[in-house]
Amino acid sequence: MKHLKIQVQGIVQGVGFRPFVHRLALQNNLKGYTYNDAQGIIIHIQGNSKDTDIFLEQLKSQAPVLSKIENLEVKECPIESFNDFQIKESQNGIHQTLISPDIAPCEDCIHEMLDPNNRRYHYPFINCTNCGPRYSIIQDIPYDRKNTTMSDFKLCSQCDKEYHDIQDRRYHAQPNACKECGPKLIYVGNKQDEDELENAINDLKEGKIVAIKGIGGIHLACDANNKQAVLRLRKRKQREAKPFAIMAKDIQTAKELVDISSVEESFLISKERPIVLCKKKAPNSYIELSENKELGIFLPYSPLHILLLERCPVLVMTSANLSDTPVLIDNEEALIKLKDIADSFLLHDRKIENRCDDSLIRIVNDKPYFIRKSRGYAPIVIHTPFDVDGLLALGAHQKGSFALGKNHHVFISPYIGNMETIETMEHFTKALDTYKRLFEITPRQAGCDQHPDYASTLYAQSLDIPITKIYHHHAHMASCMFEHELSGPCFGIIWDGTGLGKDQTIWGAEFLIGDYQDFVRVGSIKPIDLIGNEQAIHEIGRIGLVMSMDANIEQTFFEPTKQEILKKIRIQNSIPATSMGRLFDGLYSILTKKITQDYDGQAPMLLESMVQPTDKRYSLKFYEKEHVRYFDWTPMVKEMIQDTDDIHIKAQKAINTIIDMAIEQVHTLNKEYLPIVLSGGCFQNLQLLQGIYKKLIKENYTVYWHEKVSCNDEGIALGQLAILSQRRK
Ligand code: ZN
Ligand code: ZN
Ligand code: FE
Repeated sequence: MKHLKIQVQGIVQGVGFRPFVHRLALQNNLKGYTYNDAQGIIIHIQGNSKDTDIFLEQLKSQAPVLSKIENLEVKECPIESFNDFQIKESQNGIHQTLISPDIAPCEDCIHEMLDPNNRRYHYPFINCTNCGPRYSIIQDIPYDRKNTTMSDFKLCSQCDKEYHDIQDRRYHAQPNACKECGPKLIYVGNKQDEDELENAINDLKEGKIVAIKGIGGIHLACDANNKQAVLRLRKRKQREAKPFAIMAKDIQTAKELVDISSVEESFLISKERPIVLCKKKAPNSYIELSENKELGIFLPYSPLHILLLERCPVLVMTSANLSDTPVLIDNEEALIKLKDIADSFLLHDRKIENRCDDSLIRIVNDKPYFIRKSRGYAPIVIHTPFDVDGLLALGAHQKGSFALGKNHHVFISPYIGNMETIETMEHFTKALDTYKRLFEITPRQAGCDQHPDYASTLYAQSLDIPITKIYHHHAHMASCMFEHELSGPCFGIIWDGTGLGKDQTIWGAEFLIGDYQDFVRVGSIKPIDLIGNEQAIHEIGRIGLVMSMDANIEQTFFEPTKQEILKKIRIQNSIPATSMGRLFDGLYSILTKKITQDYDGQAPMLLESMVQPTDKRYSLKFYEKEHVRYFDWTPMVKEMIQDTDDIHIKAQKAINTIIDMAIEQVHTLNKEYLPIVLSGGCFQNLQLLQGIYKKLIKENYTVYWHEKVSCNDEGIALGQLAILSQRRK
C-alpha cells in the first residue's frame, strides 16, 4: 500500500487533465483526489504499489493531447483512509498557469462531423477537450467559457450535459457547441443557395476569390489549380511575386504537388498544422504559386477547412490583409476592406479575440526550423533555468514580436508583423496587454533595440519602467545562445539585412565574440554603399551598380541618365551597410540584371533557388581595420562578372565563396574554438546554414542554430530578454 502526492506542472488545466486522472485512478483501483492549484494540478493516489507505478507511467504516456507536462514531482505520504477517487473543486482565485494554443480537429471530432447520423454532421465548429480553438478565443483568465468569445453562445441542453459529464469527451470543453446552440456560418455573395458552405464551394469552383474566416484570422482563398483565379488574386491583392501557401485536402493530395519526407509529413499532420516549405516535384512547376523551388503546404486545421477541402482539394490560402497591416479578424472590417478583392465571403459569428497568423517552418536535419511561429504554437512558452521574472522585451521592427518573463517561463508573442503601420502597432499593444493579463505579469524592466526610430523603441520609451537598449546583432546572438542554454563566451555568425551597430552604421554580416553582458565585433564585410538609403533595398540595381563600381567594372543597370544621377547621389546621399542581405541583393542584381525586388528578401531567395551544383568558388580577400577583419567582396564580384560559366553555376560559386569566407573568418577569429551560434534572417537560406554548419562540424567546432524561435527578427525579443535577465544577476 502506497499514498503518493503528485504535483504536475505545465499545460494541465482546461485540457481535460482532471477527468483523465479520474479515469486512470479508477482503472488502476486507486483512491484519493485531485485538484487544480496555482502551479498546475495536485493528485493524491493510494493503492497497492504495482498499481501506483502503472498509474505514474500512464500519467506520462497517455496524457491528453493538448496537455504538456513540464514538471512532475512525486512524494510519498502517510496512508490515509479514502473511500473513492474524487475531483475536488479548485480554490477561488486559482488560475491556470499556461494556455493551450489552437489545435486542429481530433480524429474523434472529424469522425463525428463526417457521420450523417451524428448530431454534429457537417457542423463546422465541432470541437472537444482534445481539440479546437483556445488562444484565439480567450479574453481573460481563468479559462472558462464566460471568459472566451464563446460566451456569446448559450449551451443547449445536450451540449450542457456533455459539458458537465466527467465521462464525456466534452467535459469542460469551453468552446463546446452544436448546430442548435453554437456559432453559424455567414455567406455574403451572389449565390442563392440556403447552404452557406455550398455557396462558397460553388464560388471557389467557378474560380472566384472567397474570403474565409478561420481560427486566427481571415484568409483569401481560391482554387490553386485555376491559374486564372490565382493570377486574379495576385493582381487584386497587389502581391505580384511573394509565394502563396497551398492548403491541400490531405497528405496524398499534397504529395502530388511536392516531395514530402517523413519528418515533413509528421509536421504537416501535427496538431499545430504549420505551413511546411516542401520541395516542388518539378522546380519550374506552379510558378504562379511560388517562383521558388519550394511550395508552402498545409493541411486543413479547422472543421470548416475540412468541409471546404473535401470538395475543393487544393486551395490558395493567403492571409487577408492590406499592405503591411495585420491579418483581418473582424467581419465588418473584412466586408469593407476586402470588397475589391474578394468576390464573396464565408464568415462566421464567433469572434476572433487574439489574432494569429499561420506558422511557417521548413525541416532542416529532420528538425523544425521556424520562419514564423504563430498559430498552433502561440502563446509560445520557453522554459528556462534562468530567472526572467518581470522582464519585457519589445523586439525589433520588421518582424515585430515581444517576450515577457515570469519566474522561469518566457512567453513569446505570436508573429506581429512589420511595425510600420498604426494598425500593426495597435495589434502589438493589444497582444501585449492580453499577455500581461493572461499570464498575470507586470513588467518591471524592459529591453528594446538600440535603433532610435524603431516603433518598438519609441514604445519602450513611453513605458514607466527602466529600459535597456540592446544592440540588434547582440540580441540575435543572445537569442540563439539562450535557446541552447549557453552561458558564453560564444562566437556569433550573425547575418541579416539591417541592424544598428556600435559605430552607428548599418550592420548585418557580423562576426561577434561575447556573452550576455557584452560583445566585440571581430569580423564583417566591406561596407556596401546604399544609394538613397532605404530605396536601395527595393531598387536592388543600385546595389548591383555600387558593387560593380567598387570592383572597377562598368556595368549597365539603368538607362544612362539615371545611372549617372545615381552615381552622383552615391556621393551625396548614401549610407554604408555591412549587410549580408544587401550583398545577396547585389549579387542577384549583377547576375540577372534585375533592378527591383518586389519584397525584402526576394532576391536572396531567388539566388538560392537558381543555383546548379558546383564545388568551385571565387577568390577570397580580407583586410583589417581597427581590429575588425573585413571580407573584401570586390575580387568575387569582379571574377563573377568576368566568368563565362552559366548563370546558375555562377550563383552557386558566389554562395560557395560566402560559405568559405565564413569558414576562413572562423579559422582566424575563433582560435579558441568557442561554441558558434548562427543567427539572423540570412540563415533562412538553407545553403548558407547547412553549408557553414557542415564544414565547421567537420573541423570539430560546436555549432548551434535556432530550434525554438525564428532566426530572423522575430527571434530578437527572446535575445533581448536573455540579455536583460543575465545582466541583472
Ligand atoms: Zn475533438
Ligand atoms: Zn448545443
Ligand atoms: Fe535582424
